[in-house]
Amino acid sequence: MGEELKEKLFNKRKNGWEKTTPEQKQEIFNLSKKYMDFLNSAKTEREFIKQTKKLARSNGFKDIMEYQTLKPGDKIFFVNREKSMYLAIIGEEPIEKGMHIIGSHIDSPRLDLKPNPIYEDTGLAYFKTHYYGGIKKYQWTTIPLSIHGVIVKTNGEKIEINIGEDENDPIFTITDLLPHLAQEQMEKKLKNGIDGEDLNLLIGSMPFDCEKVQEKVKLNILNILNQKYGITEADFISSEIELVPAFKARTLGFDESMVAAYGQDDKVCAYTSLAALMELQNVKNTAVCILSDKEEIGSMGNTGMESHMFDFFISEILNKLGVNKPNLLDKVFCFSKMLSSDVDAAFDPIYASVSDKHNAGFLGNGIALVKYTGARGKSGASDANAEFVAWVRNVLEKNDIKFQLTELGKVDIGGGGTIAYILANKGTDVIDCGVPVLSMHAPYEVTSKFDIYSAYLTYKAFWKE
Ligand code: MN
Ligand code: MN
Repeated sequence: MGEELKEKLFNKRKNGWEKTTPEQKQEIFNLSKKYMDFLNSAKTEREFIKQTKKLARSNGFKDIMEYQTLKPGDKIFFVNREKSMYLAIIGEEPIEKGMHIIGSHIDSPRLDLKPNPIYEDTGLAYFKTHYYGGIKKYQWTTIPLSIHGVIVKTNGEKIEINIGEDENDPIFTITDLLPHLAQEQMEKKLKNGIDGEDLNLLIGSMPFDCEKVQEKVKLNILNILNQKYGITEADFISSEIELVPAFKARTLGFDESMVAAYGQDDKVCAYTSLAALMELQNVKNTAVCILSDKEEIGSMGNTGMESHMFDFFISEILNKLGVNKPNLLDKVFCFSKMLSSDVDAAFDPIYASVSDKHNAGFLGNGIALVKYTGARGKSGASDANAEFVAWVRNVLEKNDIKFQLTELGKVDIGGGGTIAYILANKGTDVIDCGVPVLSMHAPYEVTSKFDIYSAYLTYKAFWKE
């Protein structure tokens, strides 16, 4: 009697793998395989856009600039400076009834090269870096790093760099002090153990063969770069070069239930929303997929979500649908619904003390909805309206998708933000909704294949609604 009542009244957390059929498990594994393959060729925002363009075109999407007019069923995309992208499928309903938007970000914490990066010290050549996003600096030393990015010459020629991913490529690394000589360093606070200014990448040690010149090792490296890419030291001024872990995305665990990879925040949500969008044909409300840049440093700049580029894209849709009129853009945003698809902090039993077990996201328990992300009094949070949470909950429940309602850490500890507030400020109903991640922002992040699949199902169901 008590047991039955409990079953009926309690909101019980369930591990998603329980009651998963062998067929479902196979589907879950298949999606993760595709996800890992995609990640391996899309470690940076520019690479992610490049792969997405290919994928979108092969699924019938066209650049919005190729259309004079738009009609329901049309599939479009807009690429913003090769670093962010919006995709849409025009819905059957008039667009003033609102859009269904899913927005993730494709930038991840990393190390960027400084504008004057190269120097030589005591026979070793280095690149100087400035880290991007919230990192624990010590995690980025003594791991294999690869170099990705572009160098743009004054004549507009763009040289793409990708070195350290191929098995035959060299890799690069940042050295750390040996324990024998690290007594002083070990006394420091963890956050001060490695200084930002010391995150210098080791790139060479062989001198140029000439008696007379100084800085022979630097010269030798610049000579190699000149022969390979036709560049000189000055060309680094107009470059965007990122250092990312050279590890491949891999299956994790004896049971093969998890994915370990760099950049899963937030490419896991970006990829799963993209995979869902590619399978849609006709949608009721216009389906919009945002792949934004610069989230990790505050969404600023013209490729970040704070810019008006997204408004421009939606205005173009309104223009090409032939329905635009004063204030229609505002109206469309006010009647839209959005899943801010960004990752959640997964509960880590080793560091249990930072989380409230009753409100933490658990690996393998399905997609995590985060009603608000602010901490210490919900400061700075975009708090989703209960009515909208109920609407989303209904979509998930009727599609039998496992989900969990979570908070990012304990009240006085947690924090962090997403792009949710930006669309919420335009009047859209928004909730954060993504995959729980262990070791978030580390060079190697961990997710559950079950949650990845739940995210894909959630995004698909939301757009189909
Ligand atoms: Mn994120
Ligand atoms: Mn992040």
